[in-house]
Amino acid sequence: TIGMLAIDQNGDLAGACTTSGMAYKLAGRVGDSPIIGAGLFVDNEVGGATATGVGEEVVRTVGSFLIVELMRQGKTPQEACEEGVKRIIEKNKNKLDFQIGFIAINKKGETGGYCIQPGFTYRTYSNEGHLNNPSDSYITS
Ligand code: ASP
Repeated sequence: TIGMLAIDQNGDLAGACTTSGMAYKLAGRVGDSPIIGAGLFVDNEVGGATATGVGEEVVRTVGSFLIVELMRQGKTPQEACEEGVKRIIEKNKNKLDFQIGFIAINKKGETGGYCIQPGFTYRTYSNEGHLNNPSDSYITS
């Protein structure tokens, strides 16, 4: 999946995601990416989030919606992404043998990202010319 989250000069939020699907997927499988709330969710009053990785696990926790709701309750985008990943790990009895990653942005333009295992990097870009180094914040076994 490629997920993008944006905030404009008026503070309005937007998001989009694409997906490659999963290797060897069942015919007719629907991943998380086309399901609003799972692979992508944006609430212009709070923030937005998007996911990559094993879509079934993201759907089970309605992951992107969960992260936006956590931000609504006061968590930073980074804290919310970490909590979202931890929920999925708990549901899988603490196994870390699959990949999930989330990125998030809030109404202030603060961003965060977190994943299981290294490998899902994200970048932040601003019109002021900052193209930050790829961030890769993750949990490993
Ligand atoms: N999340 C996608 C799916 O489960 C896979 C991906 O592109 O990361 O379909």
